[in-house]
Amino acid sequence: MVDMEPIVRCPSCNDEQELPGLLTALSNQNVVYTCRKCGFEERNIETDKG
Ligand SMILES: [Zn+2]
Repeated sequence: MVDMEPIVRCPSCNDEQELPGLLTALSNQNVVYTCRKCGFEERNIETDKG
């Protein structure tokens, strides 16, 4: 089993970034992603981590 970093794709600029350092995890149900590239904010994002 490979321990991969979760990746999120910005819906605004389509830039793919790893979540650690980008994500503010208040809880498992309330996460906020801020795109480093365009500044887009997304709440309750889905990751490929399931
Ligand atoms: Zn972006």
